[in-house]
Amino acid sequence: MTYLNADLHCHSRVSDGTLSPEDLAARAKANGVELWALTDHDEVGGQHRALAAARAQGMAYLTGTEISVTFADTTVHIVGLGFDPDDAQLARGLAATRGGRAERAQEMAAQLAQVGIRNAFEGALKFVGNPDLISRTHFARYLVETGVCKDTAEVFRRFLTEGKPGYVPHRWATLGDAVRWITEAGGLAVIAHPARYRFTATEEYALFSEFKQHGGRGVEVVTGSHTAAEYVTYADMAQEFGLAASRGSDFHSPDESHTDLGTLPPLPGALTPVWELLAHRIQRPAA
Ligand code: AMP
Ligand code: MN
Ligand code: MN
Ligand code: MN
Repeated sequence: MTYLNADLHCHSRVSDGTLSPEDLAARAKANGVELWALTDHDEVGGQHRALAAARAQGMAYLTGTEISVTFADTTVHIVGLGFDPDDAQLARGLAATRGGRAERAQEMAAQLAQVGIRNAFEGALKFVGNPDLISRTHFARYLVETGVCKDTAEVFRRFLTEGKPGYVPHRWATLGDAVRWITEAGGLAVIAHPARYRFTATEEYALFSEFKQHGGRGVEVVTGSHTAAEYVTYADMAQEFGLAASRGSDFHSPDESHTDLGTLPPLPGALTPVWELLAHRIQRPAA
């Protein structure tokens, strides 16, 4: 396997990132990324801009998204890569998945008001680039802006997560639907940052085996949310389950993300990179 600086996971203002697709493309290029994918949460609205920006930068591109899924009462993220960005079934599925975010946000604000944090809905909305996609990240930015917390990491320790003020559980897509929407649109489904989920070994095994049964083919091994030890754990899991491996920073913002675009270590050897399975879906700039 020849080394390729691929970064197949990041967010723009179309979901909960702070940069435009164009600024992300420029930053990826400046950091040496050779193959890029923008993977906004539950949304493909930035794909045509990202592709055009990648072309303008002379960088190869794979379409991307990150779908919110509920599995075993836990939110799991499934990244889709290399699909047709105009696929109608995928668009409908993502629209249904986004639905309910506004009501959830109102409930989050009501809970925050009970602990003395006022106007959180309006405050979060100021940070939203896409009105369909108000997320916990936007609330986190408001709590930092108002000085309630010093950074977003502190927000997610004290608020917005299970058992803390501002946490509103939500039913997202099913695992089977998310994998099917991606696959039937010509793409490849990838389990995002598996070490982030607080699963028992049995639940994690169920996630990987059901994902495989639904036609999922990849897992993120090297991501901004994994430690070096977790790279090894999930390299082993990829081999055990016959999954290809992906690499992505999960970059959201120059002010918040500890891992910049294109700066992660390479995938451990012996794994099949997802981009080898997606060679026919890569959009290459004109030579
Ligand atoms: P939502 O889709 O509204 O539930 O928001 C999920 C987003 O919140 C994730 O994609 C991250 O960007 C952010 N997030 C969740 N947990 C954390 C955390 N512990 N630290 C930083 N960001 C987090
Ligand atoms: Mn996010
Ligand atoms: Mn995620
Ligand atoms: Mn992400």
